[in-house]
Amino acid sequence: MNPLLDFSGLPRFTDIRPEHVTPAVNQLLVENRAVLEGIRSELAAPTWENFVEPLEDANERLSRAWGQASHLNAVANSPELRNVYNANLPLVTQYYAELGQDQILFEKFTSLKHSDQYENLGRARKKIVENALRDFRLGGAHLPPAEKERFLQIQEELSALSSTFNDNLLDATNNFALHVRNAEELTGIPEDALQMAQASAEQEGVTGWKFSLHAPSYLPVMQYADSRALREKLYRAYSTRASETEAPGVLADTAGKYDNTPLIRRILELRKEEARILGFDCYAEVSLVSKMASTPQQVLDFLNELAARARPYAERDLAELREFAATRLGLEDMEAWDVAYVSEKLRIDRYAFSDQEVKQYLPENSVLPGMFKLVQDLYGIIINPINEGIQLWHPDVKFFSINDKEGKLIGNFYLDLYARPGKRGGGWMDDAVSRRVRDPRSAAAGIQAPLAYLNCNFSAPIRVDGERRPALFTHDEVITLFHEFGHGLHHLLTQVEDLGISGIHGVEWDAVELPSQFMENFCWEWEVMRNMTKHVDTREPVARTLFDKMLAAKNFQAGMQTLRQIEFSLFDMHLHSDFDPNGEKTVQQLLDEIRRQVAVIIPPEFNRFPNSFSHIFGGGYAAGYYSYKWAEVLSADAYSLFEESSAGNVVNPETGALFWNEILAVGGSRPALESFIAFRGREPKIDALLRHSGMTA
Ligand SMILES: [Zn+2]
Repeated sequence: MNPLLDFSGLPRFTDIRPEHVTPAVNQLLVENRAVLEGIRSELAAPTWENFVEPLEDANERLSRAWGQASHLNAVANSPELRNVYNANLPLVTQYYAELGQDQILFEKFTSLKHSDQYENLGRARKKIVENALRDFRLGGAHLPPAEKERFLQIQEELSALSSTFNDNLLDATNNFALHVRNAEELTGIPEDALQMAQASAEQEGVTGWKFSLHAPSYLPVMQYADSRALREKLYRAYSTRASETEAPGVLADTAGKYDNTPLIRRILELRKEEARILGFDCYAEVSLVSKMASTPQQVLDFLNELAARARPYAERDLAELREFAATRLGLEDMEAWDVAYVSEKLRIDRYAFSDQEVKQYLPENSVLPGMFKLVQDLYGIIINPINEGIQLWHPDVKFFSINDKEGKLIGNFYLDLYARPGKRGGGWMDDAVSRRVRDPRSAAAGIQAPLAYLNCNFSAPIRVDGERRPALFTHDEVITLFHEFGHGLHHLLTQVEDLGISGIHGVEWDAVELPSQFMENFCWEWEVMRNMTKHVDTREPVARTLFDKMLAAKNFQAGMQTLRQIEFSLFDMHLHSDFDPNGEKTVQQLLDEIRRQVAVIIPPEFNRFPNSFSHIFGGGYAAGYYSYKWAEVLSADAYSLFEESSAGNVVNPETGALFWNEILAVGGSRPALESFIAFRGREPKIDALLRHSGMTA
């Protein structure tokens, strides 16, 4: 039996082969289309039972099977898998696009909304019906046939373009290697990064050290390598990935081969056309229909206000950095490839500790238990590893269950922590199965436990003198881990019983970062850090003095970092609102313009940031990148209730229970603003964010 078609339990990752994908997708599409046909031709008035439920069931099977293929494509990419994935992607996209445009289904949802049953559906199911009507309008269900046809073509092309954008970026990243044979060029780089570079050179049968553009290899060089030439080489390669530029070190014949420039223009053109067909002025308006923010202008105003608040702090940050570079490091003309290096030196000078020092206290085998203890204390749940009988896609992946105190299963998650070739960069959470409660009369009666994928790209454990040491994480990496775990808890701790609004489903995109960014705050609490740190050699927890230094350094360069996020957000919002992809101005020129307005550090001309901006061209953040800052207002303000009610300990189970009940449990069953008010007792304010970032007088 095809493992992708087995919905009886957990995904069967070790059984799944690339050749299973096409038959599974084919069969599910045939079955689903038959279900749809049955629903369409049903003469009885649409009800939840005869209409919505069979539709949800059919779509759930497809999304689970296709989700497993997509997941493997992202974490265990191979040429074979990529081929079948890209071959099936248009078919799946076409199915969803057709579904979104289905006139008859749209009418049935409309008549359900106006039926007697609707009033008795309950709040959650009403919300699902309303969301469906909204999505049908955004899917073009109301359009005349010719426009529908065009709309469909656009969606298919867009989804293929996004996938190619990501492939190009991954290939361009993989197609760079820098071999260093002379140890003198490597002074300053920490030992563990060197060991990793040496191991990867060894793997290829060459002597010396091999560096790549993957974060665990790239970042330590940028932060610590004393050789300016080495930093420049890597910076040039990194910042021109997937562009027309040829960077030294890019493997033979691949320079320019993965250029994303034409894709970017085409994507913008198509999004604009799509918006026009739907009757909107620009794509940003389409994007905002399902978000908390209501107009592009409201978002621009929010960003500009925050930029004005952050600007003085950013200017101060930069002045300090330049001053330090000139007087202490002899770098009169600080270049882009010096910024991380100088920053780290300044930080060590000012706060007398380094990331490397902190890292020794954050081995995986104390970070994970520490993080789990925090949420166990906050929510009264129990997390256990399950080592037997689980099929994983890589031996490094771990699997955990979450139970309540009575031992009842709440949900499960996979944890895939380390960077490796064939795995997409960054950190992300994805849902594999969503919580739902099935009709007690149906064969599959009962609660379906949710299942999540948590993915990061941290350094893997290395062997020192034949002995495997635990992976050591930087504090930043721990923050990323908490962030993704926050998304995971949002998905897993939901109490919603219907698919469409369970967990992260149906949550406004600009509110979806609330639970994740919320979790980051705990990485700055003494009672959490004390439990979570254990020096890899001495086994001592981190000293209060070192932690105090970390706290003092927490908002180091917060002004510059805030402006950087605002720069990307403004770029994204302008691209999708008032930018003309066929006009005189290029995408790069728009970015340059925005940088002149808000940035304090202007990257060099050869920098091709847009070509690797996968959030908006390869992912779902188009006209939505501002969500990070928007949601940070919410998450900081939510966290401030824990601070207020802490009485010396923020790990407060009462506030935790309230947060679970009003924010995590409700998923998309009501507007995010309502959930926020239910938790916080008032509308969100920006004050806590400014205070947490040290941007208050
Ligand atoms: Zn996130």
